[in-house]
Amino acid sequence: MWFELRARPLPWRENRDAYRIWISEVMLQQTQVATVIPYFHRFVERYRSLLELADADEHEVLQLWEGLGYYRRARDLLKAAGQLRDAGFDTIPNDEDLVRALPGFGRYTTNAVLSQAYDARLPILEANSTRLLCRLFGIDGDPKITANQRRLWHLAELLLPRNKSGAFNQSLMELGALVCKPTAPACSECPLKRRCVACLQGRQAEIPQHSKSAAMTKLSEVAVVITNGDRVLLVQRPPIGRWANLWEFPHGPNSDGETHELAAARLLEVLGIRGAVETEITTLRHSVTRYRITLTGLHIAYLNGTLDSTLYPNHAWVQLAELTNYPLSAPQRRLAEALGGACHGP
Ligand code: SF4
Repeated sequence: MWFELRARPLPWRENRDAYRIWISEVMLQQTQVATVIPYFHRFVERYRSLLELADADEHEVLQLWEGLGYYRRARDLLKAAGQLRDAGFDTIPNDEDLVRALPGFGRYTTNAVLSQAYDARLPILEANSTRLLCRLFGIDGDPKITANQRRLWHLAELLLPRNKSGAFNQSLMELGALVCKPTAPACSECPLKRRCVACLQGRQAEIPQHSKSAAMTKLSEVAVVITNGDRVLLVQRPPIGRWANLWEFPHGPNSDGETHELAAARLLEVLGIRGAVETEITTLRHSVTRYRITLTGLHIAYLNGTLDSTLYPNHAWVQLAELTNYPLSAPQRRLAEALGGACHGP
């Protein structure tokens, strides 16, 4: 009832198309709803069905994904769509075991998609519902530890109604997102307030207990923006690891106490290219897992040499105006945007 009255009219809730629900669930992992909405519209307009996605070019999918981060999600979407097409499906089937074995489908994503699309009686647990359940049942300790995870999944399963599991699961998440917020939950508006242990005991601020966050390590890196005439060198990252298959300006770490110019000279030597440092383009900061990285981009004028072809699967000398055609990670896109008039080839 609460969900029917209060749920936000999100684009993936317009119908119960399993394909659209799947795309939304994958995009929403680690990403805010407001950020996802425009990406979702662009994606389902470009690939209207699982079969269209299965035939898509990875380069284009990564471009559409650019800025959302966690690019493995996009590659797994493509792989899963291909596997389903090859098995004769034209959408996500209502088959828990089959779906769970696809790339990118953990327990949460499988259950979220199948319950929302088909009312499969499967529980869900993500950040919002975890917080809500911890408070509702007064669960102490870190919710991420194994014992608490088991307990929370068990409770989420016990609470599932016989019918309408999809609406029920969404209502747990929505109530967590809109009412049982991390700070200052709106208990007076909550339909669960009379049964909620945390509310009755006045312990909303203590539950759930926050996990200890890992200490951040600072790193300094230099990126070389090498120009030759009106073109600039881009390299493609390998197909595995962070930012797999994305393009970038070559970059590497600064050693302790090393200047950016010296770090760039070392990097150029590894690349097999000789060049002259022209200017510093920009310095930007970004975080990757537990690393806080300061990245300085230097403009290098190409002198001679050929890029060592064993280092990257592909490279390209591209005009500045063509940089938008290449999917870049968020920090590399910021560097590309800072180029503007900073680079003029010899
Ligand atoms: S009563 Fe308050 S703490 Fe309890 S579930 Fe509702 S919003 Fe959360």
